[in-house]
Amino acid sequence: MSPLELRRRLKAWYLACERVDAVRQYLAHSEELAERRISLYLDTGKIPPPLVLPDYPEFPPECVGMICGAKAKSTGEPCKSTQIHKNGRCKFHGGLSTGPKSLAGKLAALENLRLGREPHRDVYKS
Ligand SMILES: [Zn+2]
Repeated sequence: MSPLELRRRLKAWYLACERVDAVRQYLAHSEELAERRISLYLDTGKIPPPLVLPDYPEFPPECVGMICGAKAKSTGEPCKSTQIHKNGRCKFHGGLSTGPKSLAGKLAALENLRLGREPHRDVYKS
């Protein structure tokens, strides 16, 4: 199987895990669902069956021991690291940061941009 196809399967597995995680979070923390279960209990007097949380999908066996495979600039050899992340690359070849996600993070980045434009103080001179 080609490394591209392996990486595609790894990403698909992570995506499926995130979906299952979202469903599990909803089932475990939904107030609406809890209220429905309580009202069911109060109306019928029967204890509702325990919540069945969906299982995470099985890790694709072909992705076990997968390597990063990114081409090194200097030697042209593929990276042999097996500590890969969601995108199928190691920490050194994961690509550029996509920037802050939350509003607070974006505001902090803008503040840092503003501070960066101001002349720097020399903190070691008094
Ligand atoms: Zn790598």
